[in-house]
Amino acid sequence: MNTPRTLIFIGPQASGKGTQAKLLAQKINGLYIGTGSMFRKIAKEDTEFGRYIKEVLDSGALVSDKDVEEMLRENLDSTSDEQRVIFDGVPRRLSQAEFLVNYMKSLGKDDIATFYIKLSREEAISRMSARRVCVACDAAHKIADPENIKDCIKCGGKLVQRADDMPEAIQKRLDIYYHDTLPVLDYLKEHSNFYEIDGTKSIEDVQNEINQTLGITG
Ligand SMILES: [Zn+2]
Repeated sequence: MNTPRTLIFIGPQASGKGTQAKLLAQKINGLYIGTGSMFRKIAKEDTEFGRYIKEVLDSGALVSDKDVEEMLRENLDSTSDEQRVIFDGVPRRLSQAEFLVNYMKSLGKDDIATFYIKLSREEAISRMSARRVCVACDAAHKIADPENIKDCIKCGGKLVQRADDMPEAIQKRLDIYYHDTLPVLDYLKEHSNFYEIDGTKSIEDVQNEINQTLGITG
């Protein structure tokens, strides 16, 4: 099949959906829209909006639909007809899914595929507790022994635990995920080509499965 112009990655935190979305974007030269990292970048800015977003993110809550929509319009209004767009971190609730599907249709990108990366709550918690990010290069690492391993293997930078990877925030994020995001799946099953992928497999296996599904070779 022709690779769809709208590709949505959805799944619980630490399911690997971000990694897969970025790999696919590279492969097909698509535009990667990762709302999580975009908002984390804004949260570092010393502005009123930056401080507001930081507060929302640190608490483990979600940014508002209005903020998400504004962000999407800003990044997508000027894309060409052929440009493929890969979403990571949006939609997170039903209202966002409805907006996204209708908005992409209005841009002429109405061929939509969803990859749902499935992962159990227990596995998600265990992966998130082990996650550290590098302050220098922003790489994420799974660290089995965080007491002793404190430097990034890529660049030697300092590894830190993201505020939203702390135990309380983890529980809150997963609660929100299961409460808000699961209805999104039902909506996307109806309004896109929907593929379910086993997120416990290796990054490479998941990537191969996605490429095969899309008919991408090499
Ligand atoms: Zn690094």
